[in-house]
Amino acid sequence: MVPFLDLKAINGQYRDELVAAAIRVIDSGWYIQGEEVQAFEQEFAAYCGSTHCIGVANGLDALTLTLRAWKEQGRLKEGDEVIVPANTYIASVLAITENRLTPVLVEPDEATYNLCPKKAEEAITSRTRAILPVHLYGQLADMPAIMDIAERHKLLVLEDAAQAHGASLYGRKAGSWGHAAGFSFYPGKNLGALGDAGAVTTNDDELAQTLRAIGNYGSHKKYENLYQGVNSRLDEMQAAMLRVKLKHLDAETQRRKEIALAYACGISNSVLTQPIPANSTVESLENHVFHLNVIRTTAREALQSYLTDAGVQTLIHYPIPPHQQKAYAEWDIQAYPLTEAIHQQVLSLPISPVMTDDQVQAVIDACNRLRCAEA
Ligand SMILES: *Cc1c(COP(=O)(O)O)cnc(C)c1O
Repeated sequence: MVPFLDLKAINGQYRDELVAAAIRVIDSGWYIQGEEVQAFEQEFAAYCGSTHCIGVANGLDALTLTLRAWKEQGRLKEGDEVIVPANTYIASVLAITENRLTPVLVEPDEATYNLCPKKAEEAITSRTRAILPVHLYGQLADMPAIMDIAERHKLLVLEDAAQAHGASLYGRKAGSWGHAAGFSFYPGKNLGALGDAGAVTTNDDELAQTLRAIGNYGSHKKYENLYQGVNSRLDEMQAAMLRVKLKHLDAETQRRKEIALAYACGISNSVLTQPIPANSTVESLENHVFHLNVIRTTAREALQSYLTDAGVQTLIHYPIPPHQQKAYAEWDIQAYPLTEAIHQQVLSLPISPVMTDDQVQAVIDACNRLRCAEA
């Protein structure tokens, strides 16, 4: 059996370090807004190459509170339009609607599943104020093109980097391209806590200050409140866990890339399209950290049930696009044929840093056998 993601095995690799860190927090007697959070924020900001990292409760809050902070600063107002890829995970869209901003869904680039700069620019109106690119499945969006558009149209850019810790282009990492970026440390993410956690990175001093206040009841100073804020903080225990796991992130990413390359070379079944060409190299994959290894096939149901029978667990990211969710039933929305096709055809193969070579080969063999079985 090849499990999709074995979190127990992933965290088990660092059991001793995690236990030592947990004991350090327990014995410190200090559990909120202390040294662990401060240290993690510095370490993660340095890792991303940004000036500030602000810990928050989860990835959705990282996105929601950044947009909220821009509203408090007068840089956004209710009804402003925010461009976002139509095929994203629902959280990117929730962050926009929670702030009573208007999401403008744009079809993605078919090869990368990421925001298509050309279609994004075509979607700009006089009410557009921001772009929210998503580094979906771990692959950096086309940030040079997106930042160029943003500059020409004076738009804010918020990266949804929840799936892309460490992805980079020209040596510049996810989280350091936009005016701000939201990260999730949900346990299953590439950098995962042992509970909920998230962070915003930014080079904007004023935004960092506003965000810290909003996430702490709107308080910049004890018992004084500038904003009608919320409680959204990264806690000491999760920060301590994340400090341990950040040290191992690059090695884990390396293993993810090896597995993705093994799939790209080993799987030769024409019923499915792989995310990267067979001649890719580790060097050519700087911009992809393979949070997910997503293949595309019109025979998804057959492939998934075949793989299940062969002992390979697969998942679908994601079965229903945001515009077809009941939560947004009130939207009188046009069709997004490419997005809808993607949601009907994608399938995620197991990819995690603890997979053995035998397990990787078992996935490859199962994918290749289907052709014979079905032909
Ligand atoms: C996981 C995820 C989020 C939300 O993060 P949480 O920590 O679960 O709130 C947002 N955007 C994307 C693309 C995600 O994958």
